[in-house]
This record gives sequence, structure tokens and C-alpha cells, in this order.
Amino acid sequence: KAKKHLGQHFLTDENIARKIVEGLGFEEYGKVLEVGPGMGVLTKYLLEKDAETFVAEIDSESIDYLKKHYPKLQDKNFIGDFLKVNIEDVFEGQVAVIGNFPYNISSQILFKIIDHYEQIPEMVGMFQKEVAERTAAVPRTKDYGILSVLVQALYDVKYLFTVHENVFNPPPKVKSGVIKLTRNPKAGLAGNEVLFKKIVKAGFNQRRKKLSNALKVLVIPENLKTHPFMDKRAEELSVEDFIAFTNLWQTSPK
Ligand code: SAM
Repeated sequence: KAKKHLGQHFLTDENIARKIVEGLGFEEYGKVLEVGPGMGVLTKYLLEKDAETFVAEIDSESIDYLKKHYPKLQDKNFIGDFLKVNIEDVFEGQVAVIGNFPYNISSQILFKIIDHYEQIPEMVGMFQKEVAERTAAVPRTKDYGILSVLVQALYDVKYLFTVHENVFNPPPKVKSGVIKLTRNPKAGLAGNEVLFKKIVKAGFNQRRKKLSNALKVLVIPENLKTHPFMDKRAEELSVEDFIAFTNLWQTSPK
């Protein structure tokens, strides 16, 4: 029986499961990590691939089920709670991530992925549609915000397809969306990650205000007070604008 507090909604449509798995490019990486495999509707197709499959699952009933039905998964392939696992220790090199994610921890999953972008070249996953749309959003739209900018600074985001409630047991209350993240070859914020996050968050926390006002919570360097971006609102800046602005800020005299 599905456990609500674990965000359990089991996908019942094999075609959709196959389509999600086909979204990943296996050839390039030896390892795939599935978050929240449940009863293995995606796992089954992952195990047909050459890559070694690891699973992060916290429900002991699901773990027993997976061990029984998929003997290819050894004990070492079960890595426990995704939010707690130490990615650097378990995977020394690159690992692709896939999953029909538990929606109660969607943003925490995305933030963990971007924190480990150096090890995660690719992700294909299902979120509630609204989170999938916010991740993929472009400037000057209401969905464009902190999640869009922080993810897109590191990954190219593609919205793959929408999934209807009725292909899950039990059906969730909202539609779902599958997205694909591909690490941008230029990814990296030159050591300015902390400042970048501060600027993006402050900008969107008061999204109706011009940046000259919204960024007052930070100490704006003198030489940036007249920068043309200051007259704009956060949602008018592209991801590249935010990166360029962060670099300017970082090198400004204090
Ligand atoms: N992949 C299965 C499917 O498509 O039918 C199950 C998807 S269900 C939406 C989410 C799964 O994530 C559940 O099996 C749940 O037990 C698991 N889960 C919840 N929190 C987790 C966590 N912190 N780490 C790993 N798995 C988690």
C-alpha cells in the first residue's frame, strides 16, 4: 500500500516508464542512480542497459520488493536516503540521475543535484508539473525564478512531456512533468556560487521591485549602483546576465 508521507505514487504505464528511461544517454557514463525506485517500474528498464544501476530508496517494503524481484541489484547498489547520501563517497566519478521523484522533496532533490553538478552530467526526472515548468522557465514569465536561474546556470533544461494523474496508483492531485538536465560544458561560476545564489535569491524575493531596491539587503558595491541592470526587475535578467553581474560584483572594490 502506498505511503503518503513518502510521496509514493506508483507509475502504472509501461510506455511512459520506457520513455523516461530512454531520455538518458547511457553510453557516456558507467553509472546511473535512480532516486525513489519504489517497485521498480523504471529500474526494470535501467537494468537492461550497460550502466551499473544504483538505487536510493528509504521505504523498507520497497527495498525488500526490489531485492526479491531484481537480483541484479546487490546490497552495494542500495544507497539509502538520497538527501543524506554522500555523493562524493559513493560515486568517485560521474553518475547520471533518474527518477519519478517524491514530490514532497522536489526542490531539495534539485538543489542537491546542482550542488553536485561536477559529478552529475545528466538528469532525467519527473516532478509535479509546476516544478518542472519553473525549472525550465525563460525570462519575463511568471514561472521564471530562483529555481530556473540556479539550475540553468549549470544545466540546459528541456521540458520533455506532461504526465496525467490517472497513470499513477494512487493518482496524485496534480499533473506531472518530465524534464531533462544536461550539464552545460561551460558550467561553473568561477568560485562565485555563494554570491550568485545571494543575488538571485534577493532579486526574486522582491520580484516586483527593481534590483536597486531588491538588492539593498546585500551591500551593493558603489560602482554597480548606476549599472543598467539596477533599473530592471529580476525576471527581466537572463541567466547569462545574472552570471555576468555576479562576476562584476565579485571584482568590484569593496
Ligand atoms: N519510481 C517509482 C514509480 O515510478 O512507480 C516510485 C515513485 S514515488 C513518486 C517516489 C518514491 O521515492 C517512493 O518509492 C518513496 O518511498 C521514495 N522516497 C521518498 N523519499 C525518499 C528519499 N529521501 N530518498 C530516496 N527515496 C525516497
